[in-house]
Formats: sequence, structure tokens, C-alpha cells
Amino acid sequence: MNFADLGLSDELLAAVTDAGYSEPTPIQASAIPSVLMMRDMIGIAQTGTGKTASFVLPMIDILAHGRSRARMPRSLILEPTRELAAQVAENFEKYGKNHKLSMALLIGGVSMGDQIKALEKGVDVLIATPGRLMDLFGRGNILLTGCSLLVIDEADRMLDMGFIPDIEEICTKLPANRQTLLFSATMPPPIKKLADKFLSNPKTIEVARPASTNINITQALVPVSGGAYGKREVLRQLLRTVEVRNAIIFCNRKTTVRELNKSLKSHGFRSGEIHGDMEQPQRLAELDLFKSGEINILVASDVAARGLDIKGVSHVFNFDAPWHPDDYVHRIGRTGRAGATGTAYTLVTTEDEENITNIEKLTGQTINRLDLNASAGAAGGDKEEKATPDRAQAGDRRRGGRGRKEEAREQPRPSREAAPRASERPRRDRDRREDDEADYNGGWNGPVPEFLHATIAIS
Ligand code: AMP
Repeated sequence: MNFADLGLSDELLAAVTDAGYSEPTPIQASAIPSVLMMRDMIGIAQTGTGKTASFVLPMIDILAHGRSRARMPRSLILEPTRELAAQVAENFEKYGKNHKLSMALLIGGVSMGDQIKALEKGVDVLIATPGRLMDLFGRGNILLTGCSLLVIDEADRMLDMGFIPDIEEICTKLPANRQTLLFSATMPPPIKKLADKFLSNPKTIEVARPASTNINITQALVPVSGGAYGKREVLRQLLRTVEVRNAIIFCNRKTTVRELNKSLKSHGFRSGEIHGDMEQPQRLAELDLFKSGEINILVASDVAARGLDIKGVSHVFNFDAPWHPDDYVHRIGRTGRAGATGTAYTLVTTEDEENITNIEKLTGQTINRLDLNASAGAAGGDKEEKATPDRAQAGDRRRGGRGRKEEAREQPRPSREAAPRASERPRRDRDRREDDEADYNGGWNGPVPEFLHATIAIS
């Protein structure tokens, strides 16, 4: 199958060739002709499958004819996070370079004035996070009655972040005879309900997850003692000893992101940070530095880094085991993309044990533990801070070991409960909600990616 067989215009085919794509991905081959025929569509696919181009490409051709009017966008793409919205905007720029379409990005963290100005001029494509869109809508800066094409991207992430009521409200503001495309990695009941309510006779396309068994993500747990200090020490050692071309290091809290980045820099590492407290331009600037290789370590929070498509990330480190097991899946999926190999290390203190148990329960897999002697020796420094080797053994002690469980109970555990559920928050909190790492109120509700079943020994 060639792109030329899909019914796209010559200008678009030229842009696709310039992007270096030789053939459409499965979701593109199935979706593009249907979207061009103005059908509603449900795409069950996650990032990495080429799903963005599967809606951006036909949208460009659909919107090529017709004119935009002030404050009345002709199409709307909803994204759960600022970074995903910015990524989609980049796609529009790349594929739409031979067209004269206008675009506006409505995301939290950037000046509202500029966004309002762009809207005033009239836009063909509006890419927005639900919070900012609702704010501007409430102020009368946007009319959605001229919006004939709606894309709801990453619907299950929207659900996790508590955006479904906003999306329902937005849907009711658009004309009833619009075209609606909904993309989601999984189809939990609330998303199915949303689709039933707002899509009309949709074509459903489901594509295999991109990470199949040939994608090789090596996973390991690295037992550490000594709290954050011990973790930083072991992390530095890992960064120095394993062949880290570039790495994303995930932390559970924004404060940890900041502290760790500062510490890594002071030890001479080329690192940067990305988290929800940063202004959007700063976040994008850090991402650019990482993408260009100027820095090779990016310390990140979950929401800021979710769904990011950065090619060639060799390593993911979990400085903390994520509180929500599905975040583990998302985090390690930042490496091993597009058929490449990758490695994911998770540093584990007693505080992380319960999270690890939940991750292993979710994935149905026991993750290998690095021999603690090796990591303790490698880490150097305070001997008494290191755990004894038998504590590092995998198996029954980890599963049911009294000692650890009791220790874990004594530790003040970072609790999900501390953060109010998204649904309990006041509406004006919406923009912050996009950034709050502790904000997911649902567990992983879909199939487990194949690559998580691959058990690979660490030598
Ligand atoms: P997505 O699933 O939209 O996040 O896309 C994942 C990656 O695949 C992006 O870096 C795209 O640029 C790339 N991509 C999209 N379509 C194709 C294609 N037909 N051939 C090769 N790469 C593609």
C-alpha cells in the first residue's frame, strides 16, 4: 500500500515524501480513506502507531477548501496535555507546509492574549487542551458552531485526568452534523459511552500496539537503601557505567524532579528537567535541548512527559516507582520505540516496594532485580546504608517478605489519596489539573502491551 493509493492530494503526498515516509502505517492505511469520506471513526491505537498522521493528513485535505471566520474555528483537536497538543501542532506544520491553513494552539501556561488574537483572525485548526478551551469559551472568545470536524485524541488519558465532563460539554457546543474522530489506546466503559453518545455510525479501526515482541525493552529493578541520597548515588553510578546515550528519568514529585536535576548538574551531567510547574515555553525549550542532544538526560514528571514521541531514547530510569502501575507502562514505553532496543531501570527502596508489587501484578511479570552486591559496590560510599545482599533476592521474600512489608509500613508513603480526585476539584483548577502528576484516579484498564511480557535477563 502506498500513500498515493489513499486519496490524498499531490501537495500532501509531497509533504509526506519530504517527511521521509515510504508507506502508510496500518492505522493510516485504514483511517485516511474513511476520514476523507467524512465518516466518524473510532481509532483504537496508541502513540507510536502513526495515529497522529492518520487524522492530520486527511484533515489538511478536507480543510484545504473553505475559509475560516473570526472566532469560529473550522476544526478542533482535543489533547489531554500541552506537550501532546504541541506535538500535534508540529505535525500540522510538517504535513501542511504546502497548504495555507491557519492553526492555533490553546494550552495552559502560555499567554491567553496571543491565543485570543489568533482566534480573532480565524483559524482552520484549533488544537486545545480541554481546560483552556473551556476557559476561553466561557469568556466568549470562541464560537464552536462553525466547527465541522472534531478529534478527541487520547480519550482514555482524558478519562484518567478527569476531562470527560468537559469533553461532553464541548461536544454539545459543536454542530450536530459534524465529523467526529475519537482515538484511544483502550476502550473502558466511559469512553465507549462517550463514543455511543457523540459519534454517528463510526467505523472502528483497531491496530496492534506498536511494541510487539520484537521490541526489546530490558527491565530491571535496582534495590537501593538510604532514601533519596542513596538513590542519587546509585543513579549516578548507573549513568556512568551503563552505556547511556540519552535517558529520561522519571520522578513521582515535581520537587524531586527539580532536586535531582540540580544534583545531576552539580555532578557534571548534561541534564534538564520537565514538569508541570514550568511555563510552557520553558518546557518546550528543555525538550528541544534533549531532542537535539545538547542535554542527554531529561528528568521528568509523568504528566509532562506522557505520550512524548522522542526518537532514540536509550534508557528510562524510574527514580521512584510510579504510584500508579499504568504509569510504569507509559514511562518505560518512552524507550524501545519504533523497533529500537531500550533499557528501563527502576530504583527501589522500601518506599517503592508496594508500587512494585502493583506493577508486577498489573503486568503479570516479575521484573529482574539487579544483584545488590554489584550495585552497592558500584555505588561506593556508606557501607551501612547498603542493604544486605539477601534482601536483594527476588522471589518469595519480595512477594510475601514480612521484613520489607513492615519496613514499608513504617515509612511515610507518598499517597495518591493526598491528592484530591480530579472529579472533586473546582473547575478553575482545570489548567493545573493538566499538570498534576498525582492526579490520575483510574488504574490501567486495557490490555497489557506485549513487550511487558518479554522477560530479559540482566547480566
Ligand atoms: P504517532 O503514533 O502519531 O505518535 O507517530 C509516531 C511516530 O511515527 C512519529 O514520529 C511519526 O513522525 C512517525 N510516523 C508517522 N507515520 C509514519 C509513516 N508512515 N512511516 C514512518 N514513520 C511514521
